[in-house]
Amino acid sequence: MAKVIFKNIKKSFDDVEVVKHFDFTVEDGEFVVFLGPSGCGKSTTLRMLAGLESISSGDIYIDERLINKVDAKDRDLAMVFQSYALYPHMTVYENIAFALKLKGMTKKDIDVEVLKAANILELEPLLNRKPKELSGGQRQRVAMGRAMVRTPKVFLFDEPLSNLDAKLRGVMREEMKVLHRKLQTTTIYVTHDQIEAMTLADRIVILNDGYIAQVGTPTEVFQRPANKFVAQFIGNPA
Ligand code: ADP
Ligand code: MG
Repeated sequence: MAKVIFKNIKKSFDDVEVVKHFDFTVEDGEFVVFLGPSGCGKSTTLRMLAGLESISSGDIYIDERLINKVDAKDRDLAMVFQSYALYPHMTVYENIAFALKLKGMTKKDIDVEVLKAANILELEPLLNRKPKELSGGQRQRVAMGRAMVRTPKVFLFDEPLSNLDAKLRGVMREEMKVLHRKLQTTTIYVTHDQIEAMTLADRIVILNDGYIAQVGTPTEVFQRPANKFVAQFIGNPA
């Protein structure tokens, strides 16, 4: 587990500042949701942490370690996106095992780790299937399995359920919650969906146009929205 510290982060693309001031600390083991409308800077902020986007100014720390210049693969994070990007020619087992093989782990150790993840995610009966033989929800669980076996210090999710239909989204939301309870890994979860934020988050960071509009627990932001934007976006206009 780990703490993630964003210190006065800014990001511009060409001359346009899309993250204007992001100052926030995610505590050890916490589940934090970045919530806001499309284009407010959620993914860009997450991608700077993941090392997929450079930081224009400010610092990001994972625990005591300044990671601004650390290579993406050395940041000890695992990210799950809305498009699952599974390897189509590999089985579920091989998809989950892939990162461990690259690490040079033995077949026996890989087996242990893959089966452990498959057990938690209830994927055991599907290990020999190919992605095209799976439902959307099953594919999303494989993507989570791939992230899990890397035992990252921090999980990052960018709209992981957006491609699923409403019913499955509800089911997967519950599974996300159970997974977090089991693993307790520090998690940052990006979404524009208020219900996902309300059900999943320990704390919600509400973003609007590159700024933090409010930080609080689901109850706090719902009952005491800091401003008009939050009230309207959360759907509880005062
Ligand atoms: P969100 O995830 O909240 O929908 P993003 O972080 O993806 O928002 O985008 C924030 C703003 O930055 C948007 O206006 C988007 O068009 C812009 N943007 C994102 N990535 C790039 C890029 N690579 N080049 C130029 N503009 C970008
Ligand atoms: Mg986004």
